[in-house]
Amino acid sequence: MLILGIESSCDETGIALYDSAAGLLSHALHSQVAMHAEYGGVVPELASRDHIRRVVPLLREALGLSGKSLDDVDAVAYTRGPGLSGALLVGCAFAEALALAIDKPTIPVHHLEGHLLSPLLSRDPPTFPFVALLVSGGHTQLMKVTGVGEYELLGETLDDAAGEAFDKSAKLLGLPYPGGALLSKLAEAGTPGVYELPRPMLHSGDLNFSFSGLKTAVLTLVREHAEAMTDEFKANAARAFQEAMVDVLLKKALKAMKQTGLQQLVVAGGVGANKQLRSTLDLEAKRKRFRVYYPELEFCTDNGAMIALAGALRLQAGTPPKEAGIFSVQPRWPLMDMAVSGTK
Ligand code: ATP
Ligand code: MG
Ligand code: FE
Repeated sequence: MLILGIESSCDETGIALYDSAAGLLSHALHSQVAMHAEYGGVVPELASRDHIRRVVPLLREALGLSGKSLDDVDAVAYTRGPGLSGALLVGCAFAEALALAIDKPTIPVHHLEGHLLSPLLSRDPPTFPFVALLVSGGHTQLMKVTGVGEYELLGETLDDAAGEAFDKSAKLLGLPYPGGALLSKLAEAGTPGVYELPRPMLHSGDLNFSFSGLKTAVLTLVREHAEAMTDEFKANAARAFQEAMVDVLLKKALKAMKQTGLQQLVVAGGVGANKQLRSTLDLEAKRKRFRVYYPELEFCTDNGAMIALAGALRLQAGTPPKEAGIFSVQPRWPLMDMAVSGTK
């Protein structure tokens, strides 16, 4: 089965071709980051318009790279939600129209399921069951994953997502949007321990997170140093933020491993690209004798490959594809609504 995957939930347009026997054949991606940076965040209307401009050239690129033609495609998977409604509508309408034209069904995909399953794209993939730490721009969740569509929420953030806290703290330190990766780079030049920031809910006894207090602590630190925001201060503050964030994510992930008794941890979403998080988790995993899996770096943030993969795995798991034509998007959509029998 050849699945065409289309992602357009936020500010990345991604198109990919995934073959259920041969794996990922190709993927093409356009990030709108530079366009939104000027405004300090994603402007929904601009995002939708840019997706419209990009989908056809990206589809041609992905087809060209794979050596396949539209005639070879068996189903079109696309992100139905959650995300920005206008942005979702572009990918959704394009996918449904394309599928109608080639007389093939569609597979509406949950964006977080795409992130969650993205480590399965790597050469050395995890096997079910595993604990998933999903750390993206809009979500922070710990889940027990026993199969495709079999997710048990173990804990989640009560306020800001991890990626959001990275981006907001980066902004406070004067870095351009989205500052998560830049803050992480800056932190490498900082000295740990110069500043101590709070580790919210570290001892809450459950697997929930809260990051708004950490962000406020960065704000307070910045205000105290407003007179002299030297490069050294910024690097040390970035380091302090990252140390606190990684510490909380590590401790909660370890608690989830202990609670479930599982041997594999999967980290997915943009923050999963963070070097300090990866090295810290790798070290602890070695000590505690479990394995950690990450998506390839290019598949940590939004992409079409994870959507094509999720579509293919859904079909394999028995979720029937949908007849192309009538469609709707779901900007708000809890992952726990995804039963293996189909999309609600
Ligand atoms: P969601 O999937 O929850 O709807 P999203 O699609 O915007 O949100 P992703 O694309 O998974 O989120 O990830 C983007 C986030 O990852 C941003 O907040 C970004 O700052 C963060 N990020 C990317 N690289 C790094 C890094 N190296 N260190 C920390 N954060 C990072
Ligand atoms: Mg993005
Ligand atoms: Fe995402």
